[in-house]
This record gives sequence, C-alpha cells and structure tokens, in this order.
Amino acid sequence: MEIEFLRNAGEVTGSCYLLRCNDRRILLECGQYQGDDEQEELNRSEFPFDPHELDAVVLSHAHIDHSGRIPLLVSEGYGGPIHTHHATRELCSIMLRDSACLHEKDSESLNRRRARKGLPAVKPLFTLADAEKAMYQFEGHEYGERVELFPGIEVRFIDAGHILGAAIVELRLSEGGRTSTVVFSGDLGFDQGPVMAPPETLAEADLVLLESTYGDRQHREPEDTLAELKSIFLAANDTGGNIIIPAFAVGRTQDLLHLMSQHFDEWRLQDWQVFLDSPMAIEATEVYSRFRHLFEARLFQPGRHVPLLPNIAMSKSPEDSMAINRIESGAIVIAGSGMCTGGRVVHHLKHNLWREECHLIIVGYQAHGTRGRQIVEGAENVRIHGDSVRVNAAVHTVGGLSAHADQQGLVDWYAAFRNHPRVCLVHGEEDAQKALAKILRSRFDADVSIPDLGETVTL
Ligand SMILES: [Zn+2]
Repeated sequence: MEIEFLRNAGEVTGSCYLLRCNDRRILLECGQYQGDDEQEELNRSEFPFDPHELDAVVLSHAHIDHSGRIPLLVSEGYGGPIHTHHATRELCSIMLRDSACLHEKDSESLNRRRARKGLPAVKPLFTLADAEKAMYQFEGHEYGERVELFPGIEVRFIDAGHILGAAIVELRLSEGGRTSTVVFSGDLGFDQGPVMAPPETLAEADLVLLESTYGDRQHREPEDTLAELKSIFLAANDTGGNIIIPAFAVGRTQDLLHLMSQHFDEWRLQDWQVFLDSPMAIEATEVYSRFRHLFEARLFQPGRHVPLLPNIAMSKSPEDSMAINRIESGAIVIAGSGMCTGGRVVHHLKHNLWREECHLIIVGYQAHGTRGRQIVEGAENVRIHGDSVRVNAAVHTVGGLSAHADQQGLVDWYAAFRNHPRVCLVHGEEDAQKALAKILRSRFDADVSIPDLGETVTL
C-alpha cells in the first residue's frame, strides 16, 4: 500500500495523488494548475502514469484545481468510474463544460495568431466533447455511504463544509491481512462560513493528507465582515452609482446571496436592483437550491426560511448582460470572473470603474498578475479591451468570506483524531505548510512531512 504525490510541494493548485493497493491503481483528484502562463503550461505536461492502467478515480470536490484535468484524463484513455458526491457530479457537469469552452475559445484565438506567423495550430487542452464524455463516467454517492471500489478498497465521503458536495475522503485499504485508513481532508471549510456546515471530524486514521492553504493565517471574525459589508452598502446608498462585485460562480456567489437575503432590510438592499450576471453562477445556484437539504438544517430554524432576494434578476443571455450597461445608478451586479480576468464583469468594469460614484467590492483572493490584483494594489488605470480605464470608483476589499478553514480550523480538525496520526501536508504554499507543521509537531508530537513531487509514502 502506497501513495505517490503527483504535484509539487508548495503548490496550491493541481491536486493529484496515486494510490496503489492490491495491484489496483486509484487516482485521488485530477486537478488543473492555475495561475500564470508557466503554471497553465504544466496542464499540458504528460501524466506520470498511463491513464489506461488506472482502475478508479476518486474526487473530493468540484473546484477546478481538484477536478480540472479529468476530461484530459478521459481523452487520453481513462475509461473507468469517477467516484464523488452527487452534488459534486452536478457542479462538475457545469464547471468542466465551461472550462472546456474556455479552452476551445483560447486555442481558437491563439491559432489565429499562430496562423498569421505561419505556425501550426495547437489543440485545446480538452474539448467540450471530452468534458461531456467524462460526465458519463461520474458515479455520485451520499455522505457517509461506504462504497466498495474493489475487494479490500473502500471509500467514504464525509462532509467537508467547503462548497456544496465537498468531501473529506476516507479510504480503508486491506492488503495481506493488514488494514490501513487513509484520510484526505480535501479542502476543509471555514466553520463560521455563512452557508455550509462546519467540516465533520473523524476519530481515527493511520495517515492524514491535510490541506494547508491557510496554515499560517487566521480569518477575521465574521461579525467584522458583516459590519464592513453593511457600511459599504449604506455608503453606496448615499453616493448613488452602481456596485460591481466580481465573484466566483460556485461558493462565493451563493454565500454572498445568502448574506444579502439575511441582511436585506438592515443593508437597505430594497433600494437596489440586484443582477446575477453569470450563466455559470445561475446554474450553480440552481444546483445549491436542489441540494439545499445538505446545508439548510443549520441555516434555518423551522418556519424561519430566508427567501431569495425579491429584487434579483438572473441575466442569462448576452443581451440581458449588455442591458445592465445602460443603467447609470441603482444596480448591484454580481458577475464573473472572480479575479476580473475575463467574463462579463470586465464589461461592467469598463462602464463603471471610471465613475467616482460607483463602488467595486472585491470579496475573493486576487492572484498575482490579474486585473483584480492591480486594482486592489491601487493601480490608477487598468487596461480593458485595449483601452486605459481610470480607477475612480471606490474600491473595497472585503476579506473574511473564505471557504477555507484557517490555521485554527485546521489544527482543531486534526486534534479530533484521538490517535494523532501521521500527517502529510498538501495543498498550500511553503510558508503556510512550515507554520502548520511546526504547530502540529509541538502541540501533538505529530509525525509531519511535506512530500515533494514524485515522492512515495508507504503505509
Ligand atoms: Zn476547493
């Protein structure tokens, strides 16, 4: 029994692990690298195994850095099952198709440029047909259900509280009369997040693969975030203009909509028209609504249901989106992409960013090199569609809406294991991993390692 680590230590994207047991090969996650061009190029590198030889794929949740290379895996010959939670299957159906369309569009425009230089065309990373084929291989399961993948190999998905359907993956492996339990945390949720339940804990494991995204940071108190949002909405009420909120389609958008419903009167949102201007976010919100039994028990006391915003308009078509551009004041527009790099939000920035009376609320992480990062760092002008646009709008950066556990959350989750198992830290930048390793060693005397690319851990 062994696990091979197939992504770089210190990376926060491109999640991928290969498990070998009883002559079976099981791939845990098949994530896409995200970030600058160099990172994106890693997605084209060959898989360090033969996709034909895999027996099963197990997926913790729908985020692209965990699921994004599945269509590529399928197009390169993997024909077996992809086990995950039911809701993750539905979200992947939206997200992988959307990702495929982006890859197709990107390669079309790249190939036009290459053709002018006399260079041969390149293929997209994967196509819509690949993504659609992959969806037939998904097998959805419930939380808590024990699924026998093969004799001696069992998997169980446990609520990770991160986004809808996100799971902690527990694998029970038996080989040669010995049984070991491996627990992969997936991405753990923030226990005080607005929508999802806190991550469930487990009491026993032999090896834990623990994410470490916020291994060196604590989140601020949720009350501070709510107070900040309230003051921005009230201030915007006085200045007029529009409010633009770039948001990630899955997770962040639904958190935001829930908070806006909950504080509708207090934040005086009745004076605004709210637009959800993202087909992907609209579809994802519908999936959240279909699976609301997974989280609403915690949100609502009986008889105290929080309704969807009464003044929300779902902008599905490009025409719906363009119509918003004609509104001079009174619109709150939630649109993708979350880092302002593409999508419909770019048009709204072009129409509103130069206007003093408008507001931009940044609610998510802005990676280096993105337009969102430039704005957050105080750029006076940004380039949009080839033109320079002045940043005159009020820019507010609201932290505290993270879907990840902070350092305390990670430590508490580990502390619930009564036997203080061996830990491999994954999914975090180097500083975060070092800080978390130090705490786990000093507080629990834990055996902590940070495996490197290609390293194998034997059970
Ligand atoms: Zn995630």
